[in-house]
Amino acid sequence: MKRALPTIVHLDADAFFVSVEQSLDPSLRGKKVAVGGRVRGIVASASYEARACGVYTPMPVSQALRVCPDLVLVSHANGMSRYSEFSAKMFALCETVTPYVECRSIDEGFMDIGPRGFKDEATAVAAVRELQGRILRELGLPVSFGMAATKVVSAIASKQNKPRGFTVVPAGAEADFLAPLPIGVLPGIGKKTEVLLKANGIARVGDLPAQNGSLLASLLGRDWRGWVATALGEDDAEVGTVHEDAKSYSQQETFPRDIGDFAEVLRVAKGMIDALLPKVRADGKTARTLTIKVRYPGMEDDSAGRSLLEPSDLEAPFYVLAEPLLRTAWRRVRSPLRLVMVKLSGIAEPAVQMELFAEKSDADARKRKLAAVVDSLNAQTNGTALQHGFHAQTHH
Ligand SMILES: [Mg+2]
Repeated sequence: MKRALPTIVHLDADAFFVSVEQSLDPSLRGKKVAVGGRVRGIVASASYEARACGVYTPMPVSQALRVCPDLVLVSHANGMSRYSEFSAKMFALCETVTPYVECRSIDEGFMDIGPRGFKDEATAVAAVRELQGRILRELGLPVSFGMAATKVVSAIASKQNKPRGFTVVPAGAEADFLAPLPIGVLPGIGKKTEVLLKANGIARVGDLPAQNGSLLASLLGRDWRGWVATALGEDDAEVGTVHEDAKSYSQQETFPRDIGDFAEVLRVAKGMIDALLPKVRADGKTARTLTIKVRYPGMEDDSAGRSLLEPSDLEAPFYVLAEPLLRTAWRRVRSPLRLVMVKLSGIAEPAVQMELFAEKSDADARKRKLAAVVDSLNAQTNGTALQHGFHAQTHH
């Protein structure tokens, strides 16, 4: 259904890791600051002052120090838990505006404020402006916002006036907003395609729908009509509809009787994490996003998902997410549950993990060895050694 107001909000924190460090140590504000590893490191985040000096991400730290000798380098080595904590607080503030929050990464996500029933654009904008101010005041984090009637357009809008941007695309004005922007802003247009399109006279988004179908088919393939729709700002994806990966791992449990006890449901959810990670490891993959879905006796569902900064094939990082996610997902706190589902998505090969985390890998290698021992023990005993007490379905 077409929205009458720009009630899909995309937020994207500005220079997130650096902003967290600056929030914790105000003496770093206004300086050329980068977060990265000193050993075999790359720049994971750079302040806007450092960017003006030629530092970008990802750039080897050694090169960054060459182009910008007075760069203040902050090690990310101990920062991961701090970054996750700030991220959780930022999304918690979003959840005071609407329960429909979809985290796409540690510092980026969508919100659907449509269900708030704002009477006009101005009141919707005021609510999001207030959230932007609150995140800056309470967490010290500058965040850019885009508001539009569709997800793709709101995500492009949030990138327009960084840092501390705030761009509103009125409902119905999507195509006009996109038309003058460079073609590369469309999600999914890679560098190679961009060069190809430009060589064929398609430099701006508005040039794409104006071209004839056979040219577009030769440049973009069979799905060229989808690209035309995207370029016109037509997209009906909903917030919270997690993008389906080629593969995900999930498990669900329908309780023999409805359960209202938080600790009991959490124990079941953690048991599912225990059951799923060995499968992820056995396939040689890593997972990034944990989603928990709950179902009430009336068959209505609620869910919540969050992504790790660093994809993992270990149980521990997902355990940490389980409790806050279950709390967020279980919105009708007074209702018992009929079903709980745990899903791991964002599945990838460990080989594509970011070099940034190379320094941590020794400790992880030890944990992985231990996990492999437990997996093989479980395999020998048909899984009874560490099995949890529920029968659950597995879907791949
Ligand atoms: Mg960001």
